[in-house]
Amino acid sequence: MCGIIAYSGKNGTNNSARELVEGLKKMEYRGYDSWGVAVATDQGIFLERKTGPISRLNKNPQKALPFGIGHTRWATHGGVTENNAHPHVSSDGRFVVVQNGIVENFLELKKVLQKKGYKFVTQTDTEVIVHLVHWELEKLNKEQELDKKSKISSPLSSTSSKSKLSIEKIFREAVRATFLQLSGRNTFVALDRKTESIVAIRQGSPLVIGKSDKEVFLASDTLPLLGKVPEIVYVDDDQLVEIKGLSLQMFSAKTGKEVKIKTQKLSQEVSKIDKDGFDHFMIKEIYEQQHTVTEAVSYSEEEFLPLIKELKKAEKIYTIGAGTAAFAAGQIARFLREAGYSAYELIAYDAESYIPIITKKDVVIAVSQSGETADTLEVVKVLKKKKVPLASIVNMMNSTLTRMSDYQFFSRSGPEICVASTKAYTAQVVWGYVLVQTMMGNYRKAQREVHELSTQLQEYFQQKKYQKVIKKLAQKLVKEEHVFVLGKSQHMYTSLEGALKIKEITYKHFEGFSAGELKHGVIALVEKGTYVFGIVGGSTKEKQETLNALAEVKARGAKVVGIASEPHEFFDVHLFAPDSNGLDPITKIIPFQLLSYYLALELKNDPDKPRNLAKSVTVK
Ligand code: GLU
Repeated sequence: MCGIIAYSGKNGTNNSARELVEGLKKMEYRGYDSWGVAVATDQGIFLERKTGPISRLNKNPQKALPFGIGHTRWATHGGVTENNAHPHVSSDGRFVVVQNGIVENFLELKKVLQKKGYKFVTQTDTEVIVHLVHWELEKLNKEQELDKKSKISSPLSSTSSKSKLSIEKIFREAVRATFLQLSGRNTFVALDRKTESIVAIRQGSPLVIGKSDKEVFLASDTLPLLGKVPEIVYVDDDQLVEIKGLSLQMFSAKTGKEVKIKTQKLSQEVSKIDKDGFDHFMIKEIYEQQHTVTEAVSYSEEEFLPLIKELKKAEKIYTIGAGTAAFAAGQIARFLREAGYSAYELIAYDAESYIPIITKKDVVIAVSQSGETADTLEVVKVLKKKKVPLASIVNMMNSTLTRMSDYQFFSRSGPEICVASTKAYTAQVVWGYVLVQTMMGNYRKAQREVHELSTQLQEYFQQKKYQKVIKKLAQKLVKEEHVFVLGKSQHMYTSLEGALKIKEITYKHFEGFSAGELKHGVIALVEKGTYVFGIVGGSTKEKQETLNALAEVKARGAKVVGIASEPHEFFDVHLFAPDSNGLDPITKIIPFQLLSYYLALELKNDPDKPRNLAKSVTVK
């Protein structure tokens, strides 16, 4: 996630740089590691990029023309440096590009472009867009030249040749042709100094146009537009926008055909786009998981190999994390054990007694959303001194944990604003799954499974009936004080994470257990009317064992809520969650995330900012 802004004003005005910086400031929450602006000038393109929070430009563009673009970055590919900050300039200095998203096939495209002779000067995936647009422009220009020549040599054959394209159309088509080659969700904007036009395409991340009789804006959010323009146009996925001066045209990015512009009044209410139309970040982030699961594993097989080599020769593998990340670490250790490796999960704040037995022949995989979790860092620092190889999977770029790691991986889920983690957790688990499958030689199969999972999640979120059942259950749970959650094996972690999620934002006592634990004590707490959740998934044996536990609590009068792909006679309430083989921990956690959100709303709690909790626990 990041913020994009573009500005095009009336001839004669020269406030583009100010407008862009002002707009970026209002969108800083979208990305906060670096930023930059590009403004067209008499001489070419003025460019300034910086790391850190949005501040002021060092210089003012001289002889500025009234159009420019800007970006606030939340790095996904390439460290947080001035050079990796957007906008990125084409090799001939003609145009600049800003991008929001991830070019999933960037390694393939990069290889092709390098063969064509393009030199890469940044580590970003964005740079492939820049060179591709350049390549496509050259191609179209050459075609036009050939066309012109053939017309001169045989003027009568003109009917068979293509009509002459305007330079604006050539640029637009080059951008479009580029878009068609990108995989992933990418919204990007290109400013062309030559044609004095701005071309943008939306796919995935939001884009909105604001217009008045003096200026046209493009932004990721309506916040920068409030008070500036009376009208807005929402850009849909796969739509292309072309702005030249104050004129605006829209096209289908797939076919190139012009589409009708649907203008609406900008009222204060529509400023909700920062949450992409959702009421809270939590629910937005829950929905985002349909995409973030694939982004978390947008690593090539080669990129996994150095870590795999280290893991294969390790005597023991330890995974470590705290809170939700500890449960993700637990799942990753379990994946490793199932593949035959000696792997153990550690809870960061209780790992002290393990430190003496971990040696440099072992490997540690640290899991954290922020990469700043004090409990995890404390253990890892001691282990680093002992020269224990360290890998990490972190959501934020440039964190302390990442910098300390020998093998750095990112869950690439975009900023997680809600304090309770949802998409970072599932991204880390999915990453662990693909890592272990790759160790077993199943990289392609695992990638396919993750894409299937993404489709399953999309279908799940589309079906409003599932959430209806969850909302109804939330109303019933308002008065409950103690609820138990049972799961077996892989779903022991799901039960711990599911219960934690609900605790965090509803302040209710939900307790997760292994279904096996029941008879050893927990069952004493079950009385008539006690709610007990059971996660029924995984192997037939796992399913059966959880069902047995549910039968036992039902016999004692419990109200049973089953999280399962199929209804069952034991369930008083059935929360549907599809089965997903190895990735079942993902599909089965979603109903808990949704339940915690809807229950928090019932209780009038702010789901994004639960009491007493902080997003990144940087203190011990
Ligand atoms: N993938 C791009 C980068 O890492 C864009 C990230 C963003 O959306 O801010 O530069």
